[in-house]
Amino acid sequence: MENFNFLINGRLVAGAKTMPVVNPATEEVLVQCPRASEEQLNEAVAAAKAAFPAWAATPIEERRKLIVRMAETIEKNCADLARILTQEQGKPLADATAETMGMAGFFRYFASLDLPMRVIEDSKGRKVEAYRRPLGVIGAIIPWNFPLMILSFKLPPALLAGNTLVVKPAPTTPLASLKFAELVADILPKGVLNFIADANDLGDALTHHPDVRKISFTGSTATGKKVMASAAETLKRITLELGGNDAGVVLDDAKPKAVAKGIFEGAFQNSGQVCLAIKRLYVHESIYDEMCHELVQLAEAAVVDDGLKQGTQLGPLQNKMQYEKVKGFLDDARKNGKVVAGGEVMDRPGYFIRPTIVRDISEGSRLVDEEQFGPVLPVLKYSDTDEAIKRANNTAYGLGASVWSSNLERAHDVASRLEAGTVWINKHLDMAPHIPFGGAKNSGLGTEFAEEGLNEFTQLQVINMAR
Ligand code: NAD
Repeated sequence: MENFNFLINGRLVAGAKTMPVVNPATEEVLVQCPRASEEQLNEAVAAAKAAFPAWAATPIEERRKLIVRMAETIEKNCADLARILTQEQGKPLADATAETMGMAGFFRYFASLDLPMRVIEDSKGRKVEAYRRPLGVIGAIIPWNFPLMILSFKLPPALLAGNTLVVKPAPTTPLASLKFAELVADILPKGVLNFIADANDLGDALTHHPDVRKISFTGSTATGKKVMASAAETLKRITLELGGNDAGVVLDDAKPKAVAKGIFEGAFQNSGQVCLAIKRLYVHESIYDEMCHELVQLAEAAVVDDGLKQGTQLGPLQNKMQYEKVKGFLDDARKNGKVVAGGEVMDRPGYFIRPTIVRDISEGSRLVDEEQFGPVLPVLKYSDTDEAIKRANNTAYGLGASVWSSNLERAHDVASRLEAGTVWINKHLDMAPHIPFGGAKNSGLGTEFAEEGLNEFTQLQVINMAR
């Protein structure tokens, strides 16, 4: 594999140290990736700080053009980026390609937005205007499940608003991000965009840094709490997109055959490593057996293999730590429920676990109460809709949820009673750049996507004039 570098102050530079990046489908080291020292992190922040005044003063039309050029560069290099993504992340090449093109789509979408001045009052007594000003240096911290996609939730809105950035990908998936940085290095003025990588040891230095004005973080709830505590000292703005334990609620009038595919994809896409995946499925007792049967059919038919192989539907778990964690959930499933599909690791190199369906399980087991973040779905039985809603809401998380029914009105009523940032009806995981997205309860703070997401990278300034 080729060499990777950091982007600091407009230059591609080697890391102070290196770290291995492993292909989760083979457990082989792909490459030694640069690993930053704290000095390099500080250099990146200093470069972003120095570049901020000129970038903030650049007309938005100019910034917009450069974001579109970045989108074009992503599209032109999609095949390379997607291949690197599959090798480091594990997902099938078709999914990596969709993620890369989706990333370009987010760049194009945010480039189409504006930050217009709003006149709040224009009267005899006063004129009041509201402006959206940039914040300064943004620290963007990315997890390992959608390295490129999640980058595109943060980078283009932050840049459009006139901020500069230091980006830190996850230690097990830094390569596609660093490749992207290299491809766009010459598009922006030096220092506007900086990329480093760490071995899970520089997050705190970034969130603590006095010259960083905002942290946009996506990752686990546990780390999110650390980010919030660390950012408090300098009163940084924060956006936190955290974990989830999404419930799918299948009402008694749903047709198991018709909804099974959508539920299966909602639970197992990216091998279940999706913040918004269905992580608990509540099914009415009258259709419980049939629903389990349909899901088992799909699980048994799924092609689980190296993402580079054509026809692969599900790749491996992304890293050894997550693989071991999901193995723990399998033990729990065997103890507290009945495994009716999958349930075992695959006898081959790589972190492969077949899609697993667990029935006759309920609250009190780890698989139901915690976020499994892997291809293991517990299917729970309920007898009354109010009871299902209560059980679905009985979690500290509140990211997404879905209701499955052939009666839209009934489904809508249930949806409105679920405590989640997004509730889908007869689908799950349908997202688009113009649809705002954020978590309730311990699933996060703030919003991404859409105008709301753009505004989070700005400071509101009011100018109030006497008449
Ligand atoms: P993680 O919290 O372990 O790591 C996320 C990022 O935080 C990584 O870049 C990591 O290096 C960095 N980090 C580690 N310690 C830090 C610290 N003390 N301060 C600052 N940053 C630090 O999460 P993960 O395991 O990479 O990702 C999986 C989790 O992310 C799951 O819980 C999943 O639900 C969640 N997630 C949420 C969303 C969302 O939009 N809500 C999207 C994707 C993933």
